[in-house]
Amino acid sequence: MIYLDNASTTPLDSCVLDAMLPYLKENYGNPSSQHGAGRAASEGVLKSRDKIANLFGCKPEEIFFVSGGTEAGNWALKGVCAASSERGKHIIVSAIEHPALIESAKDMRNFGYEVTFINPDESGKINPADVENAMRENTVFCAVMHANNETGIIQPVGEIGGICRKRGVFYYCDCVQTAGVFPLPVKTCDALGISSHKFYGPKGFGALYIRNGAAITRLISGGKQERGLRGGTSNAAAAVGCAAALENAFRVMNENNTKVSMLRDKFVNKVLNEIGGAHLNGSGDRLPSFANISFDGCNGENILFLLDLNGIAVSTGSACSAGAVSSSHVLTAMGLSLERVKSAVRFTFGKYNTEEEVEITVSALIKAVKKLREN
Ligand code: PLP
Repeated sequence: MIYLDNASTTPLDSCVLDAMLPYLKENYGNPSSQHGAGRAASEGVLKSRDKIANLFGCKPEEIFFVSGGTEAGNWALKGVCAASSERGKHIIVSAIEHPALIESAKDMRNFGYEVTFINPDESGKINPADVENAMRENTVFCAVMHANNETGIIQPVGEIGGICRKRGVFYYCDCVQTAGVFPLPVKTCDALGISSHKFYGPKGFGALYIRNGAAITRLISGGKQERGLRGGTSNAAAAVGCAAALENAFRVMNENNTKVSMLRDKFVNKVLNEIGGAHLNGSGDRLPSFANISFDGCNGENILFLLDLNGIAVSTGSACSAGAVSSSHVLTAMGLSLERVKSAVRFTFGKYNTEEEVEITVSALIKAVKKLREN
């Protein structure tokens, strides 16, 4: 298989599995238990929190373990709304956020909140001035992601964070696609979320950074885990895997980015040169692994199926919305035509891809597009 869907998920690195195995086999105690087996597991959780805090450049008590990017976004948005409803009931969310934020924002309408969705320009970027203009006296929360998960376009989070701080608005930055790719904008936001399966760690696990002193309530009530703010038995093996994966990603960050951008650029140049009517979606600063391309006269889903028949895995948008036949809310918000939106395919490269795979994919793509245009 040629796997070009690394923004959806990545395989577990073998060094990550090695780090996790002792916590799946010998150290299986409940980290909250007071006996030796519990303490051994708890030590894994503690050390992982320290490692992640060190990579983030924050304090360990500012890191909360969660089930992934979806929970991190839900917790940030709903937790801030619950903590600040007296102060105001207006929230701002960019229109290109992951459904974790968009749907959470819509949920809050049932509790009397007003939501302003900010559209990007045609390049896929959110304009900080639009965020500032949308702010009201009663705005309590703002979410603009670090980089978009369909186009890979990097957002001006430093500027947006500065505006939020100046206006006393809580700023959440979804860093699910940038963790392990770039240093994280910890200093410019009040909270940020990461998901371990996007950087060769285990699925169903992630971390939420919450700045010390930020006004936020818990989302999941239960035991005393995560300083009483997120109940549920701690997953020591996943915490250890997440920390090992992030540490590894930081260690090989530059070399990895150079490799995937070289593969991606080679792929994009070939596709744009060899296939007429192909358009790269989004422009400006982009994640090194991303290429979102529309093909005139084709349906993206059909390209996906034909490539899949050749053992090549790509995506037509975010995997989380795959299966639902709705068009990409991101490309639509950028103002692209319906034809361009429906014919878009997302190719995302990873550290295990090769130049040979680029060649094979371009050949298969040329054939697929030709076939679909003939029909
Ligand atoms: N945020 C972004 C930008 C994503 O790309 C994803 C997953 O694709 C998520 C949030 C959800 O993360 P998880 O799968 O860990 O719930």
